[in-house]
Amino acid sequence: MKFPKLNTLLVTLLASIAVFPAQAQLKLPASHTRQHNSLIANQKPSVNPFKIENNDILLNQVKAREAAIDNEIFNSYWNSDRVNPYGNAVTIPEHHNIDVSEFHSPCPGQITSNYGYRSRFGRMHYGTDLKLQVGDTVRAAFSGKVRLTKYEGRGYGYYVVVRHDNGLETVYGHLSRFLVKPNQYVKAGEPIALGGNTGRSTGAHLHFETRYLGIPINPAAIIDFENQVPHKDVFAFDKRTYGKSQKYAPAKKKSKKSYASKKRKSSRKATRRARR
Ligand SMILES: [Zn+2]
Repeated sequence: MKFPKLNTLLVTLLASIAVFPAQAQLKLPASHTRQHNSLIANQKPSVNPFKIENNDILLNQVKAREAAIDNEIFNSYWNSDRVNPYGNAVTIPEHHNIDVSEFHSPCPGQITSNYGYRSRFGRMHYGTDLKLQVGDTVRAAFSGKVRLTKYEGRGYGYYVVVRHDNGLETVYGHLSRFLVKPNQYVKAGEPIALGGNTGRSTGAHLHFETRYLGIPINPAAIIDFENQVPHKDVFAFDKRTYGKSQKYAPAKKKSKKSYASKKRKSSRKATRRARR
């Protein structure tokens, strides 16, 4: 009596395990199946979600964002043949972070002349001069769009101005040959020209400027030229860092001041001596 019952139980158990998945589906209440089907119907996209369509949406979003940045950065004061297209239309912002992390050295040469006032010529030198040989490759410091390729015999010689995604503009002067054209996009490190000795230059070198809204910033305040890297990934541009980067001291004022202070010092010494 016991054996048949056990056998029957086992058979039933095995049978139920074997058909369980099918049975479980079949046993779903009709209402659930209806709900399930309507959910699937609602969720079912018109196209295969695993196809490229989703990437297209993402790509379009990226493109739209890039276009927005493009409009903002590349459409204002773009059509100008001046190195500073903004003129006096802008003032130094209270604070603006400039992402300089993708910096690529325009040429590997050492600094031959710094940014600052040149008493010998009575004018400002708005760039950093880097050593190179005529024909050496000059590269874009950051990614961006070429705004100008021009010639100025009494100054920059053949020069290129590139406006970058980070809002900066860089100027490359005394070149011997252009490798890019205006409105061309370049990546950081991409060759843009060959170095030279054109314009007001007394020996082959690259005159390199960094400007924000046309305002020259001492490139050495942003870039550690010795190691060819930015000092920091972000250059915080404001009145303080701008002032710090200038170290501007007109020769006449300076000499007057130092003369006056010398005079004061010597007169103080004189009184001290007299007291002794
Ligand atoms: Zn220079």
